[in-house]
Amino acid sequence: MNFNNTRVDSNSKVAFEQAKNVIPGGVNSPVRAFSSVGLTPVFIARGEGSHIYDIDGNEFIDYIGSWGPLILGHAHPEVVTAIQQAAKYGASYGLSTEIEINVARLICERIPSIEMVRMVSSGTEATMSALRLARGYTKRQKVVKFQGGYHGHADPLLIKAGSGVATLGLTDNPGVPNSVTAHTITVPYNSMESIRLAFEQFGEQIAAVIVEPVAGNMGVVPPKPGFLQGLREITEQYGSLLIFDEVMTGFRVDYHGAQGLYGINPDLTCLGKIIGGGLPVGAYGGKREIMEHIAPAGPIYQAGTLSGNPLAMSAGYKTLQLLEEPGIYGELDRKAARLAEGFAENARLTNIPLKINRVGSMLSIFFTEQEVVDYETAKSSDMQFFNKYYASMLDFGILTPPSQYEAMFVSAVHSDEDIENTIKAHYQVLNKMGIE
Ligand code: PMP
Repeated sequence: MNFNNTRVDSNSKVAFEQAKNVIPGGVNSPVRAFSSVGLTPVFIARGEGSHIYDIDGNEFIDYIGSWGPLILGHAHPEVVTAIQQAAKYGASYGLSTEIEINVARLICERIPSIEMVRMVSSGTEATMSALRLARGYTKRQKVVKFQGGYHGHADPLLIKAGSGVATLGLTDNPGVPNSVTAHTITVPYNSMESIRLAFEQFGEQIAAVIVEPVAGNMGVVPPKPGFLQGLREITEQYGSLLIFDEVMTGFRVDYHGAQGLYGINPDLTCLGKIIGGGLPVGAYGGKREIMEHIAPAGPIYQAGTLSGNPLAMSAGYKTLQLLEEPGIYGELDRKAARLAEGFAENARLTNIPLKINRVGSMLSIFFTEQEVVDYETAKSSDMQFFNKYYASMLDFGILTPPSQYEAMFVSAVHSDEDIENTIKAHYQVLNKMGIE
């Protein structure tokens, strides 16, 4: 393909100019602006399976997958039918439905530590509410998060954050009161030593440690062996709660979440993305004894007009059912492993230093010679190189997240041909960049 993102008369460019007039920055979520890679954002017309089409008619193999939810690809026919059928009966009632019980049951059965779960409408709401619950339950105020971890944009967690905050290089957070972030302690990911120091100093005041069990918002960074276990032990020792933010990893790295994969039981878990099948959903769940502190069972308030929305529940339920197909996670792993292996081989052939981090179908490439184990080492990636690489991949019809600090997602419907074509494009891009 010869996709020319800088063409002045492209439909995407025109749409972006129009959007900027009526939407701040022209987008409804910052990373969509493609600003850090210096390109015009693609405006999407439609998606089908593993491919996505922009309003200029360009076709891409898509590894954004709506930033994680689309593990079954775009417009999966059975998910589409589930949404259509639900819509026929009404888009929302603001009252209880049976499908909410079905989804809750499925989540409780599949995610080891969840005994009860409350639905919300985004990952941000899930983490915000889980944090309120942790503080209300423990009657403590402090929270520990990791540098480069992203848990949505609720005030107390929007500090040293990854994802779009890292992409845009924002260092402080105007609008977030110091009094709110004063209770947030940030430490480097994968560093048990820092965690121990934080607990030695503030242990009795720490309500919770919130962690992405596989970091995905500083690019993909797997937990070091023993790290999650260490967090489990120290939180237990001090009577703090351990919150796994599995908004990205839940039903992604394993059918039982990262907690199933690594065999660690947190007290609370946040979910989102996949459980909504592409519709707006979040959830938080955990031990019954803790969850029953939420209103109306208990005194800690949390609510939502569209929580448990029937369309979203139907899309999510169908998606989770389809993920029960035997071998689906093995296939996801095999395809993503082949992609990573192809990228690594291309790097050797072209002599371009890079590191690939992968857990299941989440992966990232960092243009650095250092092992990437936390936010500091993620930042060692050569951003100028990344930006050039990114534009060239797009030119070859490969759509990956327009930021170093995000994960690529392989879906169940990426074909072997998609994977091989991606590896070929990657070789050509690296080869060209090596010569330049
Ligand atoms: N937690 C994690 C780990 C995430 O990756 C995200 C979004 N990428 C969120 C929370 C926030 O979710 P949402 O964008 O649905 O508010």
